[in-house]
Amino acid sequence: MTDYSTAGEAMPDPRSHGFFFDFDGTLAEIAPRAEDVVLDQGLRADLLRLWQRSGGAVAALSGRRRADLARYLPAGIPLAGLHGWEIDGDTPDLAALAGALDGLRDSLAAIVARHPGARLEDKGPALALHWRLAPAAEPALTLAAEQAVTALGPGWVLQPGKCVVEIRPRGHDKGDALRRFMAHPPFRGRRPVAFGDDLTDIPMLRAARQAGGLAVAVGERDLPCDLRLAGPAALALWIRRSLE
Ligand SMILES: [Mg+2]
Repeated sequence: MTDYSTAGEAMPDPRSHGFFFDFDGTLAEIAPRAEDVVLDQGLRADLLRLWQRSGGAVAALSGRRRADLARYLPAGIPLAGLHGWEIDGDTPDLAALAGALDGLRDSLAAIVARHPGARLEDKGPALALHWRLAPAAEPALTLAAEQAVTALGPGWVLQPGKCVVEIRPRGHDKGDALRRFMAHPPFRGRRPVAFGDDLTDIPMLRAARQAGGLAVAVGERDLPCDLRLAGPAALALWIRRSLE
């Protein structure tokens, strides 16, 4: 495997590739709280340049809600939120999905409240239990999420991540979001290059490879990949070099 952060090799040609970026941990360093994450302004400007140079073939795919993601990224870049559930022109009935979680919010909030520093993040159709500031809470929060998914039934899955476990609807993931983007201009006919740092990115990394493209892991996590970059700063540097 080539470590592009040190190898100094060129990024794939933006005229013939499409670029798919996860956000937290990939474009931006993870912060204790999701709302404290900052996107480097130089990288933001470079993403816009890459988007222009590639004819618009840059997308961001995140577990965040799209409206949240849009606060960070240049206008015009297509976004997929909620791990692929929220995508332009193809968003299912998220209000109904959110309603299915109504019976769980209070009980999960009570469990989280027993662990100072732990947090319940309500995304509407998904609930995330975070223990980044309360590492000892991991077993209890994981068990609570497992029990919640069992109670919800087969339409729901557990999405593990870094210091978080999420209860989310089954059916879409970042892999099929990538394929949906690839089916239409400006992505159609290009080779995808996907960048991710966490377990939720695995379907996207696999989908990029299956479409004849490249999977790039950002950070230390063991993920299916062709290349690895040390972290968001290495990715930012790589993009910057490719635009020179
Ligand atoms: Mg991530």
